[in-house]
Amino acid sequence: MAELATGPTRHGLRCASCVKREADSQTAGRHVLAVADDERRATSNESAGLYVHIPVCRSKCRYCGFYSVPAGGVDAGRLVDGLLRELERYDDGIEFCTAYIGGGSPTALPAEELIRLVRRVRERCPQAQEFTVECNPGQVDARLLGGLKTAGVNRLSFGAQSFNARELELLGRAHSVGQIAAAVAMARRSGFENVGLDLIFAIPGSTLADWQAGLEAALALNIEHVSAYSLSFEAGTVFEAWRGTGWLAAVDEELDRAMYEEAIDRLERAGLRQYEISNFARPGCECRHNLGYWANRPYVGIGPAAASYLTNDAVRASGRRLTNDADIGRYLAAVESGRTAPAETNLVSPDDAACETAVLNLRRREGIDLAEFHRRTGRDAMRIFAEPIGRYRQMGLIEVADRAVRLSGQALPIADTILCDFSALE
Ligand code: SF4
Repeated sequence: MAELATGPTRHGLRCASCVKREADSQTAGRHVLAVADDERRATSNESAGLYVHIPVCRSKCRYCGFYSVPAGGVDAGRLVDGLLRELERYDDGIEFCTAYIGGGSPTALPAEELIRLVRRVRERCPQAQEFTVECNPGQVDARLLGGLKTAGVNRLSFGAQSFNARELELLGRAHSVGQIAAAVAMARRSGFENVGLDLIFAIPGSTLADWQAGLEAALALNIEHVSAYSLSFEAGTVFEAWRGTGWLAAVDEELDRAMYEEAIDRLERAGLRQYEISNFARPGCECRHNLGYWANRPYVGIGPAAASYLTNDAVRASGRRLTNDADIGRYLAAVESGRTAPAETNLVSPDDAACETAVLNLRRREGIDLAEFHRRTGRDAMRIFAEPIGRYRQMGLIEVADRAVRLSGQALPIADTILCDFSALE
């Protein structure tokens, strides 16, 4: 259940887990090598986030460009065994402060396999304050949700995407509008106090009134968190093909922007504070796992196509980004024979680390905390980014206050353009 688009959209609204996927694109086309065990283990003393990727879905949504394969064609028990084998490789030295099982569709796995995975992950991360599982609203029942809760999950993220039946049908989602409310109610009855919804706006044919109705429907469920992303047309998707033939047209940019601004206004008025370009939460319910990505803290990704970011001690934000093989067969063959999944890796230099930290931090509404930035990168952000900060400040797109640099509200719809200017040092 991909929370977000894989690439920048017109508003730069990329998802939380997108940051993880950025690692994939950063390494794409570079030298491929097997990662040595000691390299896998090497990371700074910082606690890390753990991401487990389940690359299976019961059916393919028409807009989705993520790697996933039909769940029916995968031996779920073997996949979970493989994931656990890979997790064992990290038994030394890394403490996980958050855990997140995403996909794909974790709930496309048989319930007993998903719960077995969750149990073992929880055993490995007893101290994790937040443990999230992404759920498809059409693939949960009381037994599954109760099992997840008992096994140690304390946050659920439902891929609702839309509360409009026509839009769900167009998107190719495998659930109904009614199943979204039913799933949230079931989650509450199972004891979950932290529940989020992913929503997509700017769906072809959608009007501002449709989007407003969707926001109201989401708010009526009294959830703690909303991720709202503008639909993007990804290469290789049905939507992209349909757009190519002229059968489907993107929502025009003005409407797209109006929908984004509507989300900010309506969700904030309902008490869901915007804490990142595309993410809104009740105070204290911000997704800690994704905050780790935006702080550029280390994370370990388990599973096919999963990416990891392992940092050094000396300059904390520098280190290595690793990407597992996306092919399930090759991935399983590797981990079952005790090898690392063939991976791409690239070094993150101190300069790269400073730029990546700035770009990720600027996605947060709090922006770059200058003291935190200096601690992580050893650099003075005001000095190394003096040019873009000065230029955008003059335009009213960047604010500098309280020892922080942040995007202004006016800058949010064009965030990607601005962030590009922080992606390299002069
Ligand atoms: S559920 Fe749909 S959007 Fe999510 S990963 Fe699977 S195909 Fe993509």
